[in-house]
Amino acid sequence: MHCPFCSQPDTKVIDSRLMADGSQVRRRRECQQCKERFTTFEVAELLMPRIIKQDGTREPFDEQKLRNGLLRALEKRPVSVERIEAAISSVKHYLQVLGEREVKSLVVGERVMEALRALDGVAYVRFASVYRSFQDISEFRQELDRLEKD
Ligand SMILES: [Zn+2]
Repeated sequence: MHCPFCSQPDTKVIDSRLMADGSQVRRRRECQQCKERFTTFEVAELLMPRIIKQDGTREPFDEQKLRNGLLRALEKRPVSVERIEAAISSVKHYLQVLGEREVKSLVVGERVMEALRALDGVAYVRFASVYRSFQDISEFRQELDRLEKD
């Protein structure tokens, strides 16, 4: 990495050690040109991305909002809390693994629909009908047909 003092492109790692129970790597580096030393920390980036809404505004990922959306779609459906929580975890995992700092809300919505589809057909259609706000009744019909085929 570049030297932060003289911007020379080549710096040498002179010490490297694990920190915070192995979830961080601390490195001491030395610039080969100006001989200044500095420290870098390396951590896996598994932060939740920020969500880009349809109108272009950004907001932090909100797990409770995701949970509420799922629960609303699954109201009075025979799906256990464990399975709902597993679906929430899988959506979150998917977003973390993407490694993007910002993700369109559409991407999240599509992922939630996939999760619901695996959980419960009725909940899926409920969610999809609100979420996709089907243009007309034939589009809705197509979605139902697609569901019946699966
Ligand atoms: Zn330097």
